[in-house]
Amino acid sequence: MSRTQDGAGDRAKSSAENSAQNRPQVQPKAEGWKQAVDAEGRPKLQFAQSRRVSQPPKHLADLTLAERTDWVKELGHPGFRAKQLSVHYFTHYTSDASEMTDLPAETREEMVAELMPPLLTEVRRLRTDDGATIKFLWRLFDGALVESVLMRYRSRITLCISSQCGCGMNCPFCATGQNGLTRNMSTAEIVDQIVRANRVIAAGELDAPSAEEVAEEQDHTGLGEEADEPSSPSGPQRVSNIVFMGMGEPLANYKRVMNAIRRMVDPAPEGLGMSARGITVSTVGLVPAIRKLADEDLPLTFALSLHAPDDELRDELIPVNSRWKADEAIDAAYEYFEKTGRRVSIEYALIKDMNDHPWRADLLADKLNERGRGWVHVNPIPLNPTPGSIWTSSEPAVMAEFLRRLEAKGVPTTLRDTRGKEIDGACGQLAAAED
Ligand code: SAH
Repeated sequence: MSRTQDGAGDRAKSSAENSAQNRPQVQPKAEGWKQAVDAEGRPKLQFAQSRRVSQPPKHLADLTLAERTDWVKELGHPGFRAKQLSVHYFTHYTSDASEMTDLPAETREEMVAELMPPLLTEVRRLRTDDGATIKFLWRLFDGALVESVLMRYRSRITLCISSQCGCGMNCPFCATGQNGLTRNMSTAEIVDQIVRANRVIAAGELDAPSAEEVAEEQDHTGLGEEADEPSSPSGPQRVSNIVFMGMGEPLANYKRVMNAIRRMVDPAPEGLGMSARGITVSTVGLVPAIRKLADEDLPLTFALSLHAPDDELRDELIPVNSRWKADEAIDAAYEYFEKTGRRVSIEYALIKDMNDHPWRADLLADKLNERGRGWVHVNPIPLNPTPGSIWTSSEPAVMAEFLRRLEAKGVPTTLRDTRGKEIDGACGQLAAAED
């Protein structure tokens, strides 16, 4: 390279740096709603549901096959009925007694009523991306509303599921947190989102992505990694990937979420027989729970919602950062990789003039590289904007520069797609308002 070119390169670089230094810094704050605060005036955090809320009736999906068998016997039926009921639920995706002709006509209604009480009532279904994305709004037994989003890609079907009604983490850019935590979802309520989605797929109601969508997939990653599910030329015929990126903080509902994950990976008819690698658990960074998850001995995919590498900004963006700092959360993610051998994801919603500065990309890359190489990849995603507010997506050129800086430091990076944004089905937009 000649000196002239070098000089030109330096000049271009320094002018980019200058303009980077001149970039404004927008401070996070709740807009259009009031962020709940605690006694010290800090954004309120709710780690547990109120003692007064009740959980839905027990369902067979809450239990192991052995526990279901005991339950069926207690009700005065032969134990093997548990297995028959489980086949209907986990492989035929049905809870309709009239379809269960292998069960005695006199008792099947009663058994189904007892073991498979209805958990999710479909309130609304919205389709977008030419029918390759469906958002479901569900009403639970107590009237609480939750959403899930079903997305068909070329070679996988991903379901984005909720784990709590509302959320106690109070992140100012996320719609779900605005009304706080109502309650934890039960194991069976979490699992039933998948069974219901599988039923919709089996009925042929989820269309293939258009050529345009498929082309987009070349540049963006869809939600969820490739699962090692056998897939036919026409693509998978049931949900192959799960992302806990719907409503709620999954690690704040640890026991029920873990139990639901067991049901997803348990072979049929105990469970759905899914691959653990295709299941992504996403968290704001509850460090002790991340450590526990790493000890579960399951090759789950782990994602940390970092959104800022510096505590100054992360304290405001992710209120739980007051408890566990960015470095502690990154350390826990690294330990997850060390224990499981699974490469972890860092989620980074790019927010205009708030967290998208080039120096932050450099700092993020340095912090990740400090811990090692090959253990992590970064998934930036354009923020799903709230129109007319400070919460808006970064400019394309700024995003490109952010990605370029990470890549220049050797950090694998893929921009994530924003399927479903026209139906407020993209992440952070799940607010479950009925009107
Ligand atoms: N509580 C968990 C999982 C639910 S949110 C967590 O925070 O990880 C799933 C992802 O969507 C998180 O990374 C979250 O920060 C991100 N998200 C929330 N609101 C968003 C928005 N408006 N645009 C883009 N991503 C958003």
